[in-house]
Amino acid sequence: MRILENHVLGAWRAPSGKTADLHDPTTGEAVARCGTAGTDMRAVLDHARRVGGPALREMTFAQRGAMLDAASKAIHAIREELIDLAILNGGNTRKDAKFDVDGAIGTLSAYAHWAKSLGETKVMLDGEGLQLGRTPRFWGQHILVPRTGAAVHVNAFNFPAWGLAEKAACALLAGMPCIEKPATATCLVTERLVRALTDAKCLPDGSIQLLCGSAGDLLDHLGPQDVLAFTGSADTALQLRRKENLLRWSVRVNVEADSLNAAVLGPDVRAGTDQETWNLFLRDVVTDMTQKTGQKCTAIRRILVPAEIADTVQETIAERLGATVVGNPANDEVRMGPLATASQRDDVRAGIERLAKEAAVVHGAVGEPANLVGCEKGRGCFQQPVLLRAKETAKAAAVHEHEVFGPVATLLPYSGAAAEASEIVARGNGGLVASVFSDDRDFVRAMVLGAAPWHGRLYLGSGKMADQSLGPGAVLPGSVHGGPGRAGGGEELGMFRGMALYQQRTALQGDRGVIEKLW
Ligand code: NAP
Repeated sequence: MRILENHVLGAWRAPSGKTADLHDPTTGEAVARCGTAGTDMRAVLDHARRVGGPALREMTFAQRGAMLDAASKAIHAIREELIDLAILNGGNTRKDAKFDVDGAIGTLSAYAHWAKSLGETKVMLDGEGLQLGRTPRFWGQHILVPRTGAAVHVNAFNFPAWGLAEKAACALLAGMPCIEKPATATCLVTERLVRALTDAKCLPDGSIQLLCGSAGDLLDHLGPQDVLAFTGSADTALQLRRKENLLRWSVRVNVEADSLNAAVLGPDVRAGTDQETWNLFLRDVVTDMTQKTGQKCTAIRRILVPAEIADTVQETIAERLGATVVGNPANDEVRMGPLATASQRDDVRAGIERLAKEAAVVHGAVGEPANLVGCEKGRGCFQQPVLLRAKETAKAAAVHEHEVFGPVATLLPYSGAAAEASEIVARGNGGLVASVFSDDRDFVRAMVLGAAPWHGRLYLGSGKMADQSLGPGAVLPGSVHGGPGRAGGGEELGMFRGMALYQQRTALQGDRGVIEKLW
């Protein structure tokens, strides 16, 4: 059995105690073993703070950008290997795996590119300087400097490559060392990715460490200059936020959590025709339900459709879902693999049962599909796609509260009025992304005003952008990722905005001549 090592204190070290097994969700077989027992978490933090941080802070933004470029290339060099590992340990189809791995490569590369514009400096100016006194002699300027602690990154199971890269790109460019803690169940990909980075020697010692397994007491030692960026369920986030030392030291905590992402079909869209906006809506809904077996935090879970076309929408989505080939993700004809773990499968099945109390299952059922392709029945973590339809949209509650993290979504018929749609969307209590599919500018404007306060991102699907769009599920490094309320209240990416978590904003007040000549 393959034993995964942890990269800590400048070396790869095997676990020296209790371990956990990683599985192939297609067959249920164990494929690797990992653990962090015996790791001195306080020393790991100190190594980041004393070795990695100073080395990064010595570098200019342009140098850090070159480092990210080298990291992106090192990952690209083992792209095929990572894809194979994601198929084995994540149940990803090749296309799903590419979404994760290429997302990691692309995000690092985007930040490497943007770093060039920051140049050979170590301090970022925040906005223009400002006259504070009677004359411009007394001057003010905000600056952004890297925090001197460690950035701890706790990630969810669904993006073992991209999850690391999107956080690390911002932290490293800002000048903070990272301690990466991927979800245990799928850390096979992350371990290989970090090994590629250490083999390529593209990052200074101490700037990236990796824990394959439990975080142990790591978070209990975080202090005033450290940062915790967490991605996972709202329940775990709540548990972590309450930690006394995080509260006592005002440790920066960024949370990316659950989200009941909504898609709103505008009343102008002609369902069942060859209109581009209609086709885009269909493509995006079906992609989000089936890509990565619905295990995307940004996937559409609630589908708002004008009541008079709800039947057509239902039939068309059901037809497409019915044509989705489910089975062994290593098989080329398969479009959807298993869920990532057995507990994930059980949670999804229980979630469908919960939604089914107030919505009718109009396509699919609880359980694996009858025609599973390329694998043995009853052994893997399969769940067929399920479409539900609210019996009464006004009374539906669970669909706005309970995230079923799998190939499941619910149709919610509404009147076609933007005010009503906005009110229904807001019942999700804050989301990562909502999408509006319409070519009617008045409808889109009203939806933007109604939905924007509740979301970190709005995706405006229309015929004119259809051929360039990657869909609402794709998180692009140039736009912020995160959302208010239930979604965690965090913000990542968004070009330089994502670096703010790792920087201290400080207002300088003094002689303009001195301030303007500091850098
Ligand atoms: P999870 O169970 O909350 O776990 C997330 C991470 O937290 C894992 O690395 C887990 O480690 C770690 N963890 C759990 N308890 C911990 C503790 N006491 N101390 C330190 N770390 C701890 O979530 P998941 O099942 O992996 O992911 C699914 C959820 O993530 C879904 O709800 C989804 O919506 C959400 N998600 C959100 C985003 C986003 O960007 N907003 C992205 C992806 C997923 P172990 O694996 O070792 O337990």
